[in-house]
Amino acid sequence: MSNKYQLPNQARIFQNWVGGTWKPSASGKTFNRISPGHGQEVGQYPLSQEEDTIEAIQVAKASFEQGLWKDMSGIDRSKIVGRVAEIIRQRSEELALIECLESGKPISQAQDEMEWAAGIWDFAATMCRHIQGGANTNLGPDMTVMTIKEPAGVVGMITPWNFPLLIISQKLPFALAAGCSAVIKPSEMTPGTTLLLGEICQQAGVPDGVVNVLSGYGNPVGTTLSSHADIDMVTFTGSTQVGRMIAKSAADTLKKVELELGGKNPQLVFPDADLDVLVDAVVFGIFFNMGECCNSGSRIIIHESLKEAFVEKVVAHAKKMKFGDPLDPTVKMGAIINQQQCDKIMHYIHSGEEQGARLVLGGRKLDTPDGLFIEPTIFADVSPEMDIAKEEIFGPVLSVITFSTTEEAIAIANGTEFGLSSGVWTKDINTAMMVSRKIVAGTVWINNWMSGFPEVPFGGMKQSGLGRELGVHSVDEYLETKSILIQTNPTAGNWTTGE
Ligand code: NAD
Repeated sequence: MSNKYQLPNQARIFQNWVGGTWKPSASGKTFNRISPGHGQEVGQYPLSQEEDTIEAIQVAKASFEQGLWKDMSGIDRSKIVGRVAEIIRQRSEELALIECLESGKPISQAQDEMEWAAGIWDFAATMCRHIQGGANTNLGPDMTVMTIKEPAGVVGMITPWNFPLLIISQKLPFALAAGCSAVIKPSEMTPGTTLLLGEICQQAGVPDGVVNVLSGYGNPVGTTLSSHADIDMVTFTGSTQVGRMIAKSAADTLKKVELELGGKNPQLVFPDADLDVLVDAVVFGIFFNMGECCNSGSRIIIHESLKEAFVEKVVAHAKKMKFGDPLDPTVKMGAIINQQQCDKIMHYIHSGEEQGARLVLGGRKLDTPDGLFIEPTIFADVSPEMDIAKEEIFGPVLSVITFSTTEEAIAIANGTEFGLSSGVWTKDINTAMMVSRKIVAGTVWINNWMSGFPEVPFGGMKQSGLGRELGVHSVDEYLETKSILIQTNPTAGNWTTGE
């Protein structure tokens, strides 16, 4: 069977999307992207600087003040946001190929990501029609209060490289539902699909200037967005370290800040769990997107009675997974994003070995001439103090930790700085519910790993974030509430004289 996805002969040239048109950077400078799976240049992008960012902010601000989008009815905004979903589906092969080449993720996972992203736009289209405030007539006969919802303003959006179109789709459609304008900075490693999303929004009918996308580095583009006085809110997905920097930088102008950060997500496996049922979810949970996933299920916390049987099954199952060329539609694990990330992952693998964990699968970087590949790796006999048990590796490395009591399992699960996602495997609903209530995390999956729906809120506790994306309340993040108090039958007061 021939593969419709091929490595292109030439790098694709991208431009910034500002004010409804393609634009080079003011300096004319560009940077490029080498596909981590193939070692070939696949994209060239404008190297935006502070002046490009300020120009895009002013364009977004002008669009907001003109009210072309924010003053449009929710009914009309809904049709346009829904049309974005349709166009993402129509262009999904083009978009999936760009993500596969830029990030090294398997093409089949890039295709799935386009459908998830489109589904979020579908959901946000319905949200456009549900933005409304309230009224209170319970404050006396002559007082009526209206609380109205207004868009937060111009939103700066900064996104990471692991799921570029999906992550911007967890932000932009909800901001558009609220009536906001946006300036977006995708990761410098994977900017292609987000730049094209600017054009897609125009094709769908979003007025020019409302959605602006710039390629460039965290400093200066991201730093300008997080500090500029004309950005009213900043929403960020990325590492906890950069999230802290953004919160500090946004503090000077007291912007609203929404942060989706890192995770070190535990899956707790109780003695009555069915290993044959959970083993595929465990392999998917850690090796999906090469483990470069905020939701990666990187810690298995398993009852000691199941450990050996589990290790045997999980290793056998992981060995069945096809690993290699991201363009091969049957491949499940592709390339690591870049050399720096490979070095970081290998550092953790070495630290696991040095600190006494037992390597039961993988552990090597493959010596391929044109790609950055690390074998699926599993460590058993990991103790909670080891670095591989506490820190986010963001790679294909699973740590298996044992427990003897439920209290101990919960303590281990909560024993990191993160609180993004978690899982519980048991047939006992009492155990499942008790543990779910005690785990400090934004999501708990019971007998499941990583099901997600646009309807379900997602976000982190502790150092994993601030605020929630998705779900019916996610639009609230992009709204301000204004109270309007109306006095009927006004009479002259006597505060001045006190009589
Ligand atoms: P990163 O924090 O290095 O970069 C994210 C974005 O921030 C990029 O666009 C980058 O250019 C920009 N940036 C860098 N420095 C900046 C600065 N000083 N000011 C403003 N912007 C700056 O993250 P990454 O390596 O791209 O992504 C991996 C991280 O993202 C992991 O920690 C992962 O857990 C996290 N992540 C979280 C979620 C979630 O929903 N919670 C989802 C995906 C990824």
